[in-house]
Parts: sequence; structure tokens; C-alpha cells
Amino acid sequence: MTKAEKLRALPSVDIILRDEDVVALQEHNSLAQITNWVRAAVQHCREQILHNPDAFDANPTRWITDYVTRQSKADLGQRLQPVINATGVVLHTNLGRSPMSDAAIDAAKRASHYTNVELNLDSGRRSKRGERLMELLAQLTRAEDALVVNNCAAATVLVLQAIAAGREVIVSRGQLVEIGGGFRLPDVFRAAGVTLREVGTTNRTYLQDYEAAVNEETAAVIRVHRSNFHLSGFVTEPTIDELVQMQRPDSVAMIDDLGSGAMLDLAPYGLQEPNVLNSIRAGADISLFSGDKLFGGPQAGILVGKKTWIEKLRRSPIMRAMRVDKLTLAALEATTEIHLAGNALTELPTLRMITTSADSIRQRCESLLKRIEQTDSITVVPSESQVGGGSIPGSSLPSYALRIAGYPPHHLAHHMREGSVAIQTRVSEEAVIIDLRTVAEDQLTDLADGINSAIRHVHPLANTETAPE
Ligand SMILES: *Cc1c(COP(=O)(O)O)cnc(C)c1O
Repeated sequence: MTKAEKLRALPSVDIILRDEDVVALQEHNSLAQITNWVRAAVQHCREQILHNPDAFDANPTRWITDYVTRQSKADLGQRLQPVINATGVVLHTNLGRSPMSDAAIDAAKRASHYTNVELNLDSGRRSKRGERLMELLAQLTRAEDALVVNNCAAATVLVLQAIAAGREVIVSRGQLVEIGGGFRLPDVFRAAGVTLREVGTTNRTYLQDYEAAVNEETAAVIRVHRSNFHLSGFVTEPTIDELVQMQRPDSVAMIDDLGSGAMLDLAPYGLQEPNVLNSIRAGADISLFSGDKLFGGPQAGILVGKKTWIEKLRRSPIMRAMRVDKLTLAALEATTEIHLAGNALTELPTLRMITTSADSIRQRCESLLKRIEQTDSITVVPSESQVGGGSIPGSSLPSYALRIAGYPPHHLAHHMREGSVAIQTRVSEEAVIIDLRTVAEDQLTDLADGINSAIRHVHPLANTETAPE
């Protein structure tokens, strides 16, 4: 066919829209969206033919419908939807970190209507946004004052910019971390216009190193928790108590970036993580941590500390660009109330999952196994869950999992991700691992349905023992 003939033979958008495979896509996509994909595909074919006379020798209809089907699949895979987290990683950043408590979900839902976010219903007067939450956070952490921004990264930027722009901040070389998502501490300092004064070495930094670096330009000392990696061996660094006591003028702030911000002592569960109360008790001027790590709430950056310093942050011109919306305020208020009531371990899903015993997870595995139709290739095995989210690197929680062998594990995992309820699993050593630490009781039915469907649809591997040489 000549180029002109090929161009004339290109199917119209309307014809493609009547193709039965394309019609079927309307179950999950709007007609407008499908039409856009079809137009783009037809346009692509036209351009290819113009550039290359050999392109699309046969009728491109099949190519176009396949393209549209792939677009739809890719789009479905990105649509935000609930996911059953069967990875055993509690604070899974790709799955939105901390799941919220029922109370926080209800609070956010109620606040999504008109809500008194800046109105005191008693006096009828305007109130400060989030004032009650700040009081609750201060009460909970025994700090003088509190402030909330979008996330802990924003909190770091706010602190640096508001109290140290144009001046120096001292950091140990062992704490110059990259948090993830390209958030690297030295770059953040530069962006905030703060000079980074590195002290010590990668593995050892002494109090004297900090003290020797203080000069007229020093605005603050910051301690940064090594959230996502582990230093062991010949390692020294001062504790927050020692840092607070170091020789420095009163104008030099002591800042403690805790990262995950544990409110409870998790040592009984085998986990060592810096605690917010310790940091405040030690006398840090500003302690900052995430709302959606071990605090168990929505994404937020929480700053607590001395009134004069927090007030300085509150008055910063960039604060307005970092403030959280009413849904976050409502969810965080509900989460903080749970901490204050002493119910964190039972009512916050994150802490409930972290503190669940391996034995009850094993029982959960048995109860899931009972709902699986074809159990020949499935065993209950010990597993190791992770806290994740840059909390507690290097320590794992003993757990149990279902191990599904005898199927191509990546096919199985793919099928489970694309099921009517998405399920994210772990693939390890030629098997799919379903760790139940991060699966709630009321998700077991959907999880069993997903496993049953995957096993029905994915071809088992040929039995290697009987396979011919
Ligand atoms: C996780 C973490 C942050 C970033 O917190 P986000 O809330 O994700 O912005 C900052 N500092 C430390 C030490 C962290 O662990």
C-alpha cells in the first residue's frame, strides 16, 4: 500500500469506539477518557505512517485497540483505591504509611463539610486555626507549645529558614542523611539559605566537636535521627541530654529531628526508637516528627518545644505556605486524643499491628488458610515483618505468613494486585509471601478471595521433579 492509501485506510475514532474490546472498557472508564486514548492512538498511527512508509503494513485496528486497553490497565493501576497490605511492612511509604484509626477517619469525614476550623462556637468569635490541637499536642508531649505543618520535611525547612537563614547550623557528619524522595539534608540547608557546619566524623562525633564549632554565626545545633540506616561498631555520638547541656549561648537553639516520633516505649517489643517525651524532657528547644509514622495519624510534621522558639516559627512568613488543611487537623486531633486517653496500642492501627504477637498472627494465618480452596502449594511459615517508613532500621518483628509456591510468583503477585480488591504481597525465593501482621481480621475474606482467584487463573509451574531432562 502507498502512504496515501494507508492514511486513507486508517480507521475512524468512531469505528474503534464500537470495537467490542473497547466498549468493554466503559465498565471502568468514562467514554470521554476512552475517546481521548483512541484519538491519541489514531494520531500516533498517522504520524508513524507519515514518517515511515513501511509502518503498519496491516490494518492498525488491532494495534489501536491493544493500545487503548493497555492505557486503561495502566490508568486503573494508578487510580487511588484501598490496598490490602500483605507485605508485613507496617509503615509502607508506597501504601501511604500509617493507616488511620476509625476515630481519625470519622473526624476527617465530619470536617469535610463546613466546620469551625477558625471559629469559636462558644464566643462566636474568630479563633486561631488548630488552637485546640496545639494545646493537646503540648499536653501530650509535655512541651510548652506545638505547631503542625504538612510533613516532617516541611518542618525541617521551616525550622532552618525561620531561625537560621543566613547563619550556621551545626550537624554531625554521621547524621547528614538522605530521607528518601531526594530529600537530602545538605541540599535542604542550601535551599533554606543556611550554612551547614559539619562536625565529627561519619562514625564518631563528640560533644567537644559540637562545642568547638560554636561561633557568633551559629544559630542552632540539630540532631537528626538516622531513620533509614544503621551504624554499628566503633560508633559514638552524644545523647540529646548531653547535647542540651553543651556549652553554648542561649541564642543557639537545640533542635531534635526525631523522624518517626514514638510516643511510647517500644523496647518491650524489641524496638529502640527515640521518644518524643525523652527529647522534651531532656530540654530540646524544638523537637520535630512525622504525623504518619509511629504517631499513627495523617501525614503531618509536628513541632513541639519551647514557647519562644515555636512562636518564632509560627510568625515565619513561610508558615502560611505550609499549614495543613482542616481534614488533617481533624484527623490529627482525633489521633492525639487517642494517645492522651492511653488507648494508642488498641485504637491506632499502626501500633496495634506493631505490637501484635507472632502467635496471634499465626492463628490469623490458620484462619485464612481455612478459606483457601486449593491449599496443596500453601504453607504457614515464620516471617519477619518490618516497621518501615524510615523507622527502626535493622530490626524486624517476628511474624507468620502464608507461603504460596509452585506458581510463577511474579504472575501470582501481579494477579493479586489487579484483583477486585488490590493486594500487595512480597515475592521471595520463588514464592509469594503473605505476611498477616499488616492485614486486619476484617480483610481476611477479601484476601482469601484474591488468593483463590489468583490460584485459579495462574498456571502452576511444571513439576520440576517429574520434568524430562
Ligand atoms: C521520615 C523523616 C523525615 C521526613 O518526614 P516526612 O513526614 O516524610 O516529611 C525527616 N526526618 C527524619 C529523621 C525522618 O525519619
